[in-house]
Amino acid sequence: MKIRFLVLPFVLLALLSCNPAPTATADQTADETAPGALATDQPRLDYAIAIHGGAGVIPKDMEEERKQEYFDALEEALRAGQEQLESGAAAMDVVENVVRILEDVPLFNAGKGSVFTAEGKNELDAAIMDGSNRDCGAVSGLTSVKNPISLARMVMEKSPHVFFQGDGAEVFADEMGVERVEQEYYYTEHRWQSLQNALERQKAAGGDGVDFSVEKGTGDEKYGTVGCVVLDKNGNLAAGTSTGGMTAKRFGRVGDVPIIGAGTYADNKTAAISGTGKGEQFIRHTVARSIAALMEYQGKSLNEAAEAVVHGDLDKGDGGIIAVSRTGEIALVFNSPGMFRGAADSTGRFDVAIWED
Ligand code: ASP
Repeated sequence: MKIRFLVLPFVLLALLSCNPAPTATADQTADETAPGALATDQPRLDYAIAIHGGAGVIPKDMEEERKQEYFDALEEALRAGQEQLESGAAAMDVVENVVRILEDVPLFNAGKGSVFTAEGKNELDAAIMDGSNRDCGAVSGLTSVKNPISLARMVMEKSPHVFFQGDGAEVFADEMGVERVEQEYYYTEHRWQSLQNALERQKAAGGDGVDFSVEKGTGDEKYGTVGCVVLDKNGNLAAGTSTGGMTAKRFGRVGDVPIIGAGTYADNKTAAISGTGKGEQFIRHTVARSIAALMEYQGKSLNEAAEAVVHGDLDKGDGGIIAVSRTGEIALVFNSPGMFRGAADSTGRFDVAIWED
């Protein structure tokens, strides 16, 4: 008994020296606008933004002209977001605007250029989240809305709900008076061709599930979802993601994009995150929320948390994420051969890329 009492103070001392509380410096440099202080906090940047245009097997031998089109589209969207942020725009406005720009580009699998379902239709999903209050809105199975991200924001701001799907989402779109299009609007020849290739492969394999395989030369079935994450000058975070889903997806399939915490998440305490890749895997691993949780509960930096989830939880080839932390740290992490992406911040950083190098 006596020995135990004698040993206790030493054990306590040892524990304290092994697990020091966050230092005064870390607390002092933490963003004052956000509650709580993470051990990893750095001084906050004025603003930061990252975008993606999908992850997957992106052929490196893509035609120069096509490659340039991707770079131009990414640069244009990133520049538009950066300019808004420079002039003090709110994170939510920047996310909505940038995702709308990407939705309108036929190269990406969102809005115009969305992939086709197994029945040859287009069914679109989107979600947006405001990190300042964790308010969010999501839509899925849209068949006639030009810019799903804007309808997702309306769900958040103009309804008492968080998520509308299918026919109900279309009725809500009627009520909101958002711009509508015929299914032909979404059509692009290369996505139609991707569907034909996918259906043929499925038939040959005797299966009827979503085709996750990629045949060399058939190209682009697996990428093109778009997303944007932002830290604005007021220290607020927001995330938005929009997609046509997976080529040859079956009736009523919903991916990760509109599922808050899977493909989209934002919380001023930690980070804003947008994912792209095999939606089923992102749902199983609640990818976006897991990254935030590792930061919140384990004090990991954004990049440490993102690496742990993307390379630890997901399987190789599943996809990737873009994220920005409450201090403006940017993460662009993927385990597929490529991810269309871009990042900019108030230090003058501005870059777009497709492959690892
Ligand atoms: N994650 C999207 C989905 O599963 C697809 C993608 O990002 O390419 O719907």
